[in-house]
Amino acid sequence: MGIKSGKQYIEGLRDDRLIYVNGELIRDVTKYPPFQRVMQELARIYDRQREAAYKDALTYPSPTTSQPVSSSFLIPSTFEEVQWRMRGERTRAELTNGMMGRLPDYTNAEVADLAAIRNLLGRNESRFGEHAWNYYELCREKDLTLTHTLVDPQIDRSKGIEAQEGLRIVKETSAGLILTGARMLSTLAPISDEILVAPYMPRKPNEEIYTMVFALPVATPGLRFICRETYDAGRSAYDRPLSSRYDEGDAIAVFDNVLVPWERVFGARDVDTYNLISPSIPGFLLLQAAIRGVVKLRFMTGVANLVAKAVGRTEMIRYQEMLGALAANVELAEGLLVACAHEIWENVRKLAEGSSKAAPPTSFIPGLGSMYGVPGKTLVTLTLVRIFLPAAHSQAVETIRMMGSSGLIMTPTEKDLCNPDLHDVLQHYLRGASMPAQERVRIMKLAWDAIGEQFGSRALLYEWFFAGDPINNRILYYRADTNVTCTAMAQAFVDSLKEQ
Ligand SMILES: Cc1cc2nc3c(=O)[nH]c(=O)nc-3n(C[C@H](O)[C@H](O)[C@H](O)COP(=O)(O)OP(=O)(O)OC[C@H]3O[C@@H](n4cnc5c(N)ncnc54)[C@H](O)[C@@H]3O)c2cc1C
Repeated sequence: MGIKSGKQYIEGLRDDRLIYVNGELIRDVTKYPPFQRVMQELARIYDRQREAAYKDALTYPSPTTSQPVSSSFLIPSTFEEVQWRMRGERTRAELTNGMMGRLPDYTNAEVADLAAIRNLLGRNESRFGEHAWNYYELCREKDLTLTHTLVDPQIDRSKGIEAQEGLRIVKETSAGLILTGARMLSTLAPISDEILVAPYMPRKPNEEIYTMVFALPVATPGLRFICRETYDAGRSAYDRPLSSRYDEGDAIAVFDNVLVPWERVFGARDVDTYNLISPSIPGFLLLQAAIRGVVKLRFMTGVANLVAKAVGRTEMIRYQEMLGALAANVELAEGLLVACAHEIWENVRKLAEGSSKAAPPTSFIPGLGSMYGVPGKTLVTLTLVRIFLPAAHSQAVETIRMMGSSGLIMTPTEKDLCNPDLHDVLQHYLRGASMPAQERVRIMKLAWDAIGEQFGSRALLYEWFFAGDPINNRILYYRADTNVTCTAMAQAFVDSLKEQ
């Protein structure tokens, strides 16, 4: 089939999936009103794959059929192909202003990452590597829409996995694995075709039953998704410019004796291999996340500037300094993306040569997670995503708050602005520095949707926790070689003083 159309994407969601929202089992997600506008948003991106202006970035010829397939599946064999991937990812991110974390190209990148390390996945049981490769080809050729879920439920984080009711293997049969338990969060699940279950927290030697990598259709018997409240409550695009378009949905995935057929299992019960997956992948997933995060940073910087301009703050030096700092973050982030491209290319090259270096075992810290980048392997991309972007997004949100202040909430609705009784008074008191009230309020509503409404609050939570808790992540850096080499440099200077 190759690339699918928006219509095919939506039709593909009509199946027996079990999606619960607000106490209701949604029989047909394609007809559920709060999912309509975000589905249309994704459908538009699928349609773009056929349009002359986009197809060069969004697709590449399938290695098996030569037909166009999504460039998010491209496993590069040259640096130019890394850049091709990146063009596709930037284009998709720009089409949604970086506001959708789980654009389908994200998990596509993860499936490509797994396919690229099929030798590792199959090192003890060759079939797992073959399954990962076959699944990659299936997703690519059918243009499947995927989500993923990594994190165990959050019951008592002071305790180990057994206290979290994590997803576990309860039985193995000739047909496959039987699984029960839950995974905490899966963005886009209600409107995806498939879910990939992949590693996050490293597992310990006695945690074999919690150790598995696989993919399943969202519509699988025994698998239920319970969604959070939706943020698209049907308000106009004027009143809720972002939540009316980009609310991708989050759900807890609950497994009740679910059969995962062997051909969909890419690893099971093998703790060592499982823990080596994150350190060994080339990093397409991180690259996509970095690009999307940088595009969103550009957008948020733009919003901050619009808000400042609307009320004349761009003329005041204090606010210029804050806006300048955001622009500096954008510059730095764009520079880091250039470095990421080279880093990912190095990883791909080394994998092809068979000389890829996984992070040393010391980078696994029980209870904290895994520092799976090492200098020269994914460390720049990892640091951009785990450390720089959460802080830069927080700074952008804080700056928008300072630029907008009371104006962010003192925004009558579209209906108020259309009410003839209120028109003159609103025009008078809510006009901006050099713009009419409609325009000033439109900008303020955009800003508040981006940082304050349910949508905006989630958006910051997403950036903050996307790649794990950034405070934990900073602790993980304590184990990185960087600290050792920096300390050695300072120590050498101290020692030289003693010699004088
Ligand atoms: C808006 C939003 C959307 C998200 N979408 C997705 C998604 O689509 N798919 C997805 O997989 N995740 C998603 N996440 C989850 C994200 O990966 C996590 O929030 C992040 O990794 C931090 O984990 P936590 O929320 O469990 O935080 P916390 O409860 O703070 O736990 C994290 C810390 O707890 C400790 N910990 C101990 N044991 C465990 C354990 N067994 N599992 C995890 N942590 C443990 C570790 O120190 C770890 O760093 C999303 C999160 C948000 C906020």
